[in-house]
Amino acid sequence: MILLDGTTLANEIKQNIKIQTEILKKQDITPGLAVIIVGDDIASQTYVDMKSRACDMVGIYSIIHKMPSNINEQKIVDTIKMMNDNDNIDGILVQLPLPANIDENKIIQAINPQKDVDGFHPFNIGSISLNTDGYIPATPYGVIKLLKKYSIKLKGQNVCIVGASNIVGKPLMSLFVNEYATVEICHIHTKDLKAHTIDADIVCVAVGKIGLITADMIKDGAVVVDIGINKDSDGRLTGDVDFEAVSKKCSYISPVPGGVGPMTIAMLLENTIKSAKKRKTDG
Ligand code: NAP
Repeated sequence: MILLDGTTLANEIKQNIKIQTEILKKQDITPGLAVIIVGDDIASQTYVDMKSRACDMVGIYSIIHKMPSNINEQKIVDTIKMMNDNDNIDGILVQLPLPANIDENKIIQAINPQKDVDGFHPFNIGSISLNTDGYIPATPYGVIKLLKKYSIKLKGQNVCIVGASNIVGKPLMSLFVNEYATVEICHIHTKDLKAHTIDADIVCVAVGKIGLITADMIKDGAVVVDIGINKDSDGRLTGDVDFEAVSKKCSYISPVPGGVGPMTIAMLLENTIKSAKKRKTDG
């Protein structure tokens, strides 16, 4: 079994982004990322801090707009519009989930698709389906990059994705289809999960449930990508896959932590640099 080491690859990507940032700065462009966080969710705050630290590391300027959970929806939209018009901001992201009283779709759709570095705007989700240029959501993008780094064959492979969210499972499905894989996507209403995972050459899991994928659900030699992030009873980070048992059966597996997580941040930075480069060419 080989570990899909996301930490090492993410560090390589970040080093490369740092060089690109330095080149842009010499041309008077400092890539900028604006992050909006609403409410006091501790996990969201942690993710935002991690993104901000990663920006600092590679020389991207970042600002965090913190808003209270009882904020008026329109005020968030107005803040986004302000950032849409700010030429020093290349990327805008709204940390999800938002408080229940706020319409997530309305907020995401307020972001200029050209600055939607999270890739959640319908325009960018559509671009993935059409396989045209756009921003690819960071987590699915990171999964594909990680698999390619290890030269794992995608074309013609049977892929089973467990979890069908708009931000992970569904865009990942489109990315695999674009690579000519044959894809099945499972969710809470899937009748017999094992019947789908057991035949897959590649299993990707993004649910948020400890121990959901057990060794009997994986075929010998399969590739397993664990996207889930959970905390176990001791407060340790763990994925959705029974790593101990599954790692004895599969050919490759991504650990949690150290697999897809670091790749997600690296790909967000890459999307931000891509946008900053467009600022340069668009003048
Ligand atoms: P989400 O929006 O809650 O989606 C979870 C998906 O799993 C939904 O499609 C849900 O179906 C499905 N599901 C729930 N229980 C299931 C079951 N027993 N069997 C099969 N499918 C089931 O979550 P998300 O935002 O996609 O995140 C999923 C996991 O990935 C979380 O642990 C999250 O922390 C992690 N994550 C990690 C990264 C990273 O950088 N590594 C990034 C994003 C997310 P229904 O919607 O029908 O209930």
